[in-house]
Amino acid sequence: MKKNVLVIVIALILSACGAGKALVSVENAPIVAAIDLVNVVDDRVQVDLNPGAFTTSTVIFSIPKTVPGTYSSDNYGQYIQDFKALDYKGNLLQFTKIDENSWSIDNGTQLDKVQYWVNDTYDTENEVDDAVFSPAGTNIAAGSNFMLNLHGFVGYFDGFKEVPYSILIKKPANLIATTTLSKEPNRKPDPLWDGFIAKRYFEVIDNPIMYAKPNTEIFEINGIMVTLSLFSPNNVYKAADLKEKMVSMMGAQKRFLGDVDSTKEYNILLYLSDVNIPDAQGFGALEHHTSTVVVLPEAMDLGRLEQAMVDVVSHEFFHIVTPLSVHSKEIQYFDFNNPKMSEHLWMYEGTTEYFANLFQIQQGLISEEEFYERMLTKINNSLFYDDSMSFTVMSKNILNQPYEPNYANVYEKGALINMCIDIILREKSNGEKSMLWLLKELSKKYGADVPFEDNALLNEIVAMTYPEVGEFFNTHVIGETPIYYDDYFKKVGLATQDVEEPTGYFFDGQVPYMDVDVQNDSVVYIRKNIELNSFFNNLKLKGGDIFRVINGQEINLESLRPVIGESFGWTPETPITMTVERDGEMISVEGTVGQPVKKVKKIVALEGVNEAADKLRNAWLKN
Ligand SMILES: [Zn+2]
Repeated sequence: MKKNVLVIVIALILSACGAGKALVSVENAPIVAAIDLVNVVDDRVQVDLNPGAFTTSTVIFSIPKTVPGTYSSDNYGQYIQDFKALDYKGNLLQFTKIDENSWSIDNGTQLDKVQYWVNDTYDTENEVDDAVFSPAGTNIAAGSNFMLNLHGFVGYFDGFKEVPYSILIKKPANLIATTTLSKEPNRKPDPLWDGFIAKRYFEVIDNPIMYAKPNTEIFEINGIMVTLSLFSPNNVYKAADLKEKMVSMMGAQKRFLGDVDSTKEYNILLYLSDVNIPDAQGFGALEHHTSTVVVLPEAMDLGRLEQAMVDVVSHEFFHIVTPLSVHSKEIQYFDFNNPKMSEHLWMYEGTTEYFANLFQIQQGLISEEEFYERMLTKINNSLFYDDSMSFTVMSKNILNQPYEPNYANVYEKGALINMCIDIILREKSNGEKSMLWLLKELSKKYGADVPFEDNALLNEIVAMTYPEVGEFFNTHVIGETPIYYDDYFKKVGLATQDVEEPTGYFFDGQVPYMDVDVQNDSVVYIRKNIELNSFFNNLKLKGGDIFRVINGQEINLESLRPVIGESFGWTPETPITMTVERDGEMISVEGTVGQPVKKVKKIVALEGVNEAADKLRNAWLKN
């Protein structure tokens, strides 16, 4: 059946090209990939890849080692099993496996097709050390869900990445495809097979397909048709539950971007995973030109799911600016098995992540305080990585040590680099120019099909802007000097300062100021290595002190509970006596409990009036 359909389709395509079958070289014929989602065996699907005729004696077939946007070596070839190369009579051809992702086939001129089985990544994520990030991974769940990140299913022949592909999918009747891959135009509707086409291999992998039971919402946002398709294994969520939030969020993104040329179609493929079984665990999303694959836990409540979707999808959608419209040759001519990395992760991920936060304050989705909070969190998080590592060197070598473990800093310091340049641009241009202006200029100059020279970009940006931007690049992006963020906050009338905030006596919100030592009679002690509140500080108590007596009551895990209960009724004047054990010694203290406060770092407006700085801050956040 499958074979027959294949032959018919090939015949149709060939007659359209006006060529005879046996003579059609691989340059002219589309590569026909057939994927069978009906006859799933042991959680695997069979793929059949039929190219035109080769003229070389050796043919190399590869599955990607890595794909754009993941910045990791994932070796999708490891999921390919029972590889076969067949000649025109159906006989097996000899081949050698070159590495985890490539096969070298002898007697290439006789090669009719290759055939193999594909195993998925989602249900083995917890068994391997370096699991494929789920939004780039694959799922094969017979009859219910197929996440076809096609780089996991369809490979390419060496030297023939630029030829068109025809992708035929035998599908279960109850599942529908969500994808931005183009439908095969001359194909009659067929309940058993879907047909898609791609102009080149890049297009195959740039358009993932999700098959699932219909759970879809389609809406229009200023000229973009957005499709949201959702897979919820336990039917917890419907696409309709998220529609309103996505409409308002993407509408705000479009207003923020203004006249940026964008796609006419955008698909959100949302896979909710079941945390109670072996399932996808890499939560987040991967960007494509016209779609994104998002993976999140189904167990999230609606509020959190909505917020996660806002943060994740807005980030992916802004990737249509960079790298999708502004990128270097390394990305345009991506080498799937020997990738050359670009220097500019500060832009591809940093600018994108920065915009995903900036648009929320500019469009009124979050408050100024929340925006500052987010930037401060990024400053704090960035310190968990090597703050003295050159960002361009890291980017260029991101697949290798010691750079690879610093990758996630592109979302922290990468965004902050953009914030600082944004402030410099506002300052030098009297509030007029911004990072968004710069990216719009770059995307006009380049765009989706014209890449820039990797090592020329920074100089080009300096030529378009100000020498101060060049200084910043040299010192903090190419150079290894950590950024002193207050220098940039000051320009917009802000500073990071310690401020006091109310907290509880024994708890800061849900987080206790004490801990239990189960090894030592379950004694309760004041937590170490945290900033204590004024209650403990004023009584001169320290982290590690073990509670022994409070207000005459001997303290253990049980008897501390009512004391904590009473503390909710304490007033600042309430007296307290306490005995703690410190390094084997008993220490008694007394006093009043006071009003407990904690010290927190905050980004706050500077005291006094500075009209110029305030004007700049308004241009930056309210423009
Ligand atoms: Zn990203």
